Amino acid sequence: MEGRCTICNEGITNPVCIKCLDRGIRVWVWDRPELLKRLDAFTKIFSEYDEENSRCILCKGEIAICAHCYCWELYKELKKADSRAAEGFLEHFNYDIKVPCRFS
Ligand SMILES: [Zn+2]
Ligand SMILES: [Zn+2]
Repeated sequence: MEGRCTICNEGITNPVCIKCLDRGIRVWVWDRPELLKRLDAFTKIFSEYDEENSRCILCKGEIAICAHCYCWELYKELKKADSRAAEGFLEHFNYDIKVPCRFS
């Protein structure tokens, strides 16, 4: 059974949890303290979504929101700090996610 995202209500087709996504993104922003600070705050907010809609394929942890929503919301957050870095983030991580983020 495929779960649905709490934010966009779409099926979670790429079940990777926030913690695993965060780990990957952290590697990318480690030398950019301003972005790292925003990532920390952001992950904290999103980890409060505690519904279990799906299970992570990497760590088997709970997933409440899809990678697209996480990616898109984080993009908007990073853009406030550094819009060029935010564009780079989108290019870099869209490749992993494979389907473009939902631009609403
Ligand atoms: Zn979603
Ligand atoms: Zn995980």
